[in-house]
Amino acid sequence: MEEMSCAANLSLSMYPGLTVGAMNLIAAHANEQLQQTYLPNMVSGQWSGTMCLTEPQCGTDLGMIRTKAEPQDDGSYAITGNKIWITSGEHDLAENIIHSSYAVTNNLSCSNDARRAVM
Ligand SMILES: Cc1cc2nc3c(=O)[nH]c(=O)nc-3n(C[C@H](O)[C@H](O)[C@H](O)COP(=O)(O)OP(=O)(O)OC[C@H]3O[C@@H](n4cnc5c(N)ncnc54)[C@H](O)[C@@H]3O)c2cc1C
Repeated sequence: MEEMSCAANLSLSMYPGLTVGAMNLIAAHANEQLQQTYLPNMVSGQWSGTMCLTEPQCGTDLGMIRTKAEPQDDGSYAITGNKIWITSGEHDLAENIIHSSYAVTNNLSCSNDARRAVM
């Protein structure tokens, strides 16, 4: 299916393609509550997804990202920073757009690395 949609229209196929990427991230790392909230809507196509990696000062070398994710008391993260060139970042094809963002956090207990994706 993916091969056919890419062959027919690569630009359009970026929308479901990036959604699958965001879904895989949620399925691999999010807790049960987040998975129940996001995945059914994304699988159905009602919501779409993106990947927010690139920043004005870094593209290839993602070790230079400055976007910060600060853990909040309720388990969420407050995110500050700038992202650019986000494919499928704004459109009317879906009810909601889920942005998975690459950010730095000081909460080392949540990861072996100081960096992790935050939605
Ligand atoms: C159409 C389009 C859609 C995009 N969509 C997204 C998206 O959805 N999400 C997202 O996060 N980003 C997106 N991007 C950004 C894309 O990921 C970056 O353009 C890419 O990572 C390259 O970064 P840069 O443009 O800053 O180039 P640079 O990182 O400045 O690289 C410029 C050149 O230098 C080379 N180079 C850089 N560092 C090194 C190194 N250490 N050693 C050797 N060579 C090096 C590169 O190979 C390249 O030839 C999109 C870009 C485009 C054009």
